[in-house]
Amino acid sequence: MPSGDGTGPGGSSRGTGTGRRSGKGRGGGSGLGPGGLCVCLKCGEKISHQSGIPCFETRCPKCGGTMTRE
Ligand SMILES: [Zn+2]
Repeated sequence: MPSGDGTGPGGSSRGTGTGRRSGKGRGGGSGLGPGGLCVCLKCGEKISHQSGIPCFETRCPKCGGTMTRE
């Protein structure tokens, strides 16, 4: 894979859409909260969502498929 993981020069620093879902999560953990999962559309693999990186920009570590917010 020649290209990096999206941290290249042509980074995507423009946010399309203001997808702010319920600002404050439910109390509890510090950082990892409910809804912090991305699920693969192909194989169903679930990974923890990384803040700042939309799920649909994340590739499944298993099959490389597109992921979506669970
Ligand atoms: Zn997958």
